[in-house]
Amino acid sequence: MSVVENLKVVIETINSVKRESVTLIAVTKNHGVEVMREAIDAGVENIGENRIQEATEKFAVLDRRVTKHLIGHLQTNKVKPAVKNFDLIHSVDSIHLAESLNKAAKSVEKIQDILIQVNLAKESSKSGVYEENLPELVAAVDEMKNLRLRGLMIIAPNFPDVEDCRPLFRQAKKFFDIMKKNRKNFDFLSMGMTHDYKIAVEEGSNMVRVGTAIFGERNYNA
Ligand SMILES: *Cc1c(COP(=O)(O)O)cnc(C)c1O
Repeated sequence: MSVVENLKVVIETINSVKRESVTLIAVTKNHGVEVMREAIDAGVENIGENRIQEATEKFAVLDRRVTKHLIGHLQTNKVKPAVKNFDLIHSVDSIHLAESLNKAAKSVEKIQDILIQVNLAKESSKSGVYEENLPELVAAVDEMKNLRLRGLMIIAPNFPDVEDCRPLFRQAKKFFDIMKKNRKNFDFLSMGMTHDYKIAVEEGSNMVRVGTAIFGERNYNA
């Protein structure tokens, strides 16, 4: 199936289960800039990339307007290009990283929109702040004048049975709603990828990050 057809299926799936409006981020990592163009021309308004270097090379030649999301882990030595290139950074998970980002944003007089990545399942293989350390990180970010906290990002474990993601997504949504009550600009709950986005949206995600279902399998040798 073509990108246009795949997009249609993903959007229809989201629309069949959503409770509120959902932002679809098309994840173009490991695909060339021509795939990015194709997606944007098919109506995609949000693009997600994992790695700073790969993304900046593609953005440099991308002759299209699109909202850019950094969804991969960010190292403090890459905060400058991150701030320069991305509208929303999903992967803030430590005070140290937040401080570096705040400094980089200040130096270019930008207010950087960020999400905090929460490692709800406490997977040691994954990034993200543990739930019990979240209040401290949020309090620190609130003091950083060049960062604006827009919500939370969750990556579910790769369970053999995708239904096992559901309780985790439900817990994330509860968490998000509680935080949202006392905050301004706290709008995005980023959760759901190709294998679990339908369940994520059913459980209240309003931002999904979908690659494979739109573009097919990634070729890591390319
Ligand atoms: C690669 C990636 C995605 C997209 O994964 P698919 O399974 O191809 O949809 C979503 N979120 C993050 C953080 C990713 O690294």
